[in-house]
This record gives sequence, C-alpha cells and structure tokens, in this order.
Amino acid sequence: MRILRTGEVREKGLYMCCQVFVRKDFVAVYASEWYYRYVGSNSYLPITDLIDPEDAEILKEAIENLTEPVEVVTRITNHKDGFRNIYLRVERSDRTENGEPIYEVTILDILDLEERKDRLEENVAKYRYFMTLENTYYFEYDMAGNHLLIYKYVNEKSIKLVDSDLDAFVEEYTGGRDPQDRLIDQMNTFCGHLKGGSQFFDMEFEGILDGKQGRCSVKGGIYHKNKNMVGGVFMPDQISIREAYYLTEAARDAGSGLLNKKAASEYTIEKLAEAAGRTAWVIVMDIDDFKNINDTFGHLFGDQVIRKVAETLQDTVGQRGIVGRFGGDEFFVFLEKVGSREDLKTLLKTIAKQLLVAFDPKFRLTTSIGVSQYPVDGTNFEELFGKADKALYIAKEKGKNRHIIYEEKLHGEYTTDSMKTQTVAYAMSREKRRDKLIELMSTLYLKGVRYVTEDPQVQKSIRDLFDLDGLTIYADYGRELVCRNGSYVCGMKDTEHILEDEEYIKLFENQGVFVITTKEKLKAVHEEAYRIATEQEIGSMIQCLAKKDGRPYALVSFDVFNRNRKWADNDIELLGLIGTCLGRMLAL
Ligand code: GH3
Ligand code: MG
Repeated sequence: MRILRTGEVREKGLYMCCQVFVRKDFVAVYASEWYYRYVGSNSYLPITDLIDPEDAEILKEAIENLTEPVEVVTRITNHKDGFRNIYLRVERSDRTENGEPIYEVTILDILDLEERKDRLEENVAKYRYFMTLENTYYFEYDMAGNHLLIYKYVNEKSIKLVDSDLDAFVEEYTGGRDPQDRLIDQMNTFCGHLKGGSQFFDMEFEGILDGKQGRCSVKGGIYHKNKNMVGGVFMPDQISIREAYYLTEAARDAGSGLLNKKAASEYTIEKLAEAAGRTAWVIVMDIDDFKNINDTFGHLFGDQVIRKVAETLQDTVGQRGIVGRFGGDEFFVFLEKVGSREDLKTLLKTIAKQLLVAFDPKFRLTTSIGVSQYPVDGTNFEELFGKADKALYIAKEKGKNRHIIYEEKLHGEYTTDSMKTQTVAYAMSREKRRDKLIELMSTLYLKGVRYVTEDPQVQKSIRDLFDLDGLTIYADYGRELVCRNGSYVCGMKDTEHILEDEEYIKLFENQGVFVITTKEKLKAVHEEAYRIATEQEIGSMIQCLAKKDGRPYALVSFDVFNRNRKWADNDIELLGLIGTCLGRMLAL
C-alpha cells in the first residue's frame, strides 16, 4: 500500500509520521522521537495497551502469523491528555533481537490539526511545491445522526466542502447521472462503508472533489472510541491538485499577476505531455528597448508598463492559452487552442496592435516575438522554448518590432551541448517524475533513511530520475561516508575538513542548499572545493547541508561529471528537498 503523506521532517526533528519497532509483545525497542515525546513515561507499555482494546485484539491476533501488513484506524492515548486518532500499520521488519523478529509499526496522525498547522506554517515557504500534495480532504461521518462532514485545510482554516446528511451528499454529487456511471458504483461503495461502519477501507473515487474530473483515493475506518463515527481522508489525484495550484499566489508573478516562470513552464510541460500531437505554440515575447523606457520615464513607470503589457497580453490571448512572465520584460505564452498558422499570425498582429493602442502614441511600445510549434519543432518544453527563444533573438537582430516563427530550414538546427543534457533531463515527463518522487518520499518516511542509504538501487533510481552521474552522502559531522553511487574517479573518505570550513558552510545560506552550474563558478567562491571537484571530475552539483545542534552534520551531494549543467528550477527545488530531508533524517 502506498501512503501519500508529506511527513516533513521538522526543524526539531519531529515526524508527523512515526515509526516504532516492537517485539512480538508490542513493547517498543526503538521508536521515533515523536512516539517517546507523546507517550512519555508510558513508553514501556506495549502499544496494544495504548490503543483501543478492540484494535489491540486485532493486532495481537494478527501478529501470531503475520505475513501481510495489518492496518487499523484507531486511537492512541498517552494516559495523560486525551487521544489522537491514528492510522496504524504493523509489518515485519528485517530486524531481529536475540533471534526474535522485530516488527515495524507505522503511525500516522490522522487529525492532528495543531501539528498540521505548525507544519504548514513552517514548510509552506520552503517546500511550496511539495506542500501542494498536502491537499487532503478529511471526512467524518456520524452514523447515528446521519451527518457527513468533508473539509480541508486551506491557509490553516478549515473549509467545509460537505456538511449535510448522506442522502443530500449523494444527490448533490451523483444526482441526474446515468445509473451505469462508475461514480454511482463508487458512491454506493463509499456510502456502504460509512453506513456499515467499516473497520478499514481503501478505495478509489472519481471526479468527486471540487467537481473535478480527477481521481482520488479514500482511506477510512471506524473510530473505536466512538462507534458511531467513521472518519478518514480523501487524497486527490495530483492532476486536480495541480489545477488548484495555478490559482494560488505561489504560482503567480507578483509584479504582473501573470503565471510565474516556474508555474508557466510546469503547466506547459504538463499540457505538452497530454497534447497527443495536437498543434500548440510556444511564444516568447520581449519588450523592445525597455531600458530606454526605464531611463526616460523612471522605474516606477516601467513597472506600470509591464503591468499594462501583461494585462493586454492576457486579454488578447484569452482562453486560447496561458500567459506568464519569465522575468524582466520577457513574457511567455503557451497557445493550446490555435490550430492554424494563419490564426496564429492574426493573433500575433492583434497583440502588436493592442499594445500600440494601450499606450500613449508618443512612445510607441513595440515588442519582439519568437514562436515555435508543437509538435513540428519539438515535443518537449526545453526544445520548444529554446527554439522560440532563438527565433526571438533573430527578431531582435533583424531590427525588433516583429515576430519570427521558427523554421529549421531558415534558422538552422537547434542543438547545443547544454540542450542535450536538458533534453535528457526532461525526457521523463514531469508527471512521471512527480509520481516517482512522491513514491520515494513516502517510502522514505515509512522506512526511514536506510531506505535510501542502504540500497544502491534506490540511489541509482534517484540518479536516473534527475540525470545525475553521482550521489554521495556524508554524515557524522562529515566523518562518515554513508553512501556513494556513480562512477566517481576518486572519492573522499570523509568531508570533515570541508564541513568545518566556515567559508564553505556560508555557501549554504540559502535554505541549506548550494548549487553550482559550472566549476568556474565554484572556483570563484571556494578554492579548496574547486580543487576537490576537479579531482573528482565533477562539473556541476547541488549540495544540501543538514545541521545537528547547530553544527554542520550531514552533506548530500548530487553530482554531474565533466559537464556543466544549467539546473532547471524544478531540479533545484526537488533535489534540494530530497537532499535536505535525507540530511535531516541522518541528523536525527
Ligand atoms: P531589447 O530591445 O534588446 O530587449 O532591449 P531592452 O532595453 O529591452 O533590454 P533587455 O530586454 O535586455 O532588458 C530589460 C531591462 O528591463 C533590464 C532591466 O533594467 C529592466 N527591468 C527588468 N525587470 C524590471 C522590472 O520589474 N521593472 C522595471 N521597471 N524594469 C525592469
Ligand atoms: Mg527587452
């Protein structure tokens, strides 16, 4: 079973999701800090004494002959300040004690709102992307009162999606549908679990939340201390989560309100993956002589011009595609609903005209535009963007105030070394990468850091996912080489002296992540690190640092050999996330 939980490691080293290793009698031999913190002086008691007796019986019975994991939704008490609703799973671990098997118990806090709020606050800024996965809906069904509540947390506030009796809910979501509709079937199953008070259930639901087409999985079960209550979570499929993401502030450029570079690129990559050969256009637009506007009328006025251009562009493109700002005076359009070249040209002319009339005629605002066409000029974002950008460059060269539609015959082949690497890196669609990453992260949290550090296959899969040549992890204040994967020409046994070097550590000021695209850049910032990288033939890298008691403790290095790599923002973010998590887990 796969559990989608972010399970961020908190600064203080606490997990939302905790692990306890127990003997057959359910007495803990080792547990995550959360467990000891919560259970306190009762940690010597078997877990079965801390959860509801009915569930304890289920576990005791199952452990006699455990082959498959057993799961229950139950409550855990610390005999002090009440209960917490938890999802608990027991499975065999690969550990033993005196020849006796040790079992692994995973506990997920289901409705721990307080922690959830703290965690959201702490992490939202840091791991915005990953937090979009936190789009979980909770439900509670009161069997006696026939009342269903479905809600989620947005900006720390609970937002109710459903607050009604079951019949009204069914009517609202399936009313008027064909009885053959799959949703009707799923709805019946779901209601069956609610009315019947299922012990534990795990099912798929289609197009239910937010009226989206996306799927979600639902896990739930009865609360044993309140036999009238069934509760659980809806975890929406990633696609519907993404749709909502584009509406958030995080996806927007503050200056213009358009999509920011990251969001616009991601959107385009996703749409390209689904385009199935249907014509689409990638457009890059840059204001001509914008510096003059700034110099002549001032920066504030320049800002207004950018906003006005953004507005005009958005209005003109309308529903035919999306518009983003890629920084400075550069804009980006992905047109999905313009089929022919003629229509494209008409639209480009309209944009130019609208821009002219949007401003006072005395400073004739003009732009240069480069366009590439999917699938003719390429099928992946990098290639299409690169070609549109090249066409833009030609438009500027030819005297600005024009558009150029890329044509290989006219504009030459588009290949560069850096392109090659990036194309490879993007070969795996974003969708697929995200799924893999979620899987990696959730397993990491369930299995612990050993899942990565002790399994070369997993290390290799991370390398493949991000087109990396090497992955090296050090811990114990740099003294221990935890793992190394990839064909390093030579590797260091430890990295203690580097971690003790304050100048080097300063490079990690940006959230513990240090990115190097070329060795020359490294030379400029740190001679010794440059020497080491040269020795190991490392061309570029992303390194993540984790501290323990305020001192640099673990270093995770994602390396690329003998070549420069212009890391995509997305790679930096995701690798930064994985590296930081691994580092912090080691530092626990
Ligand atoms: P070209 O025709 O070749 O594009 O010339 P340009 O003057 O437009 O030069 P370029 O596009 O290279 O530079 C854009 C300038 O826009 C650089 C920077 O000073 C300015 N700029 C970037 N972001 C902002 C912003 O948010 N507000 C303002 N007012 N100016 C900005
Ligand atoms: Mg410009």
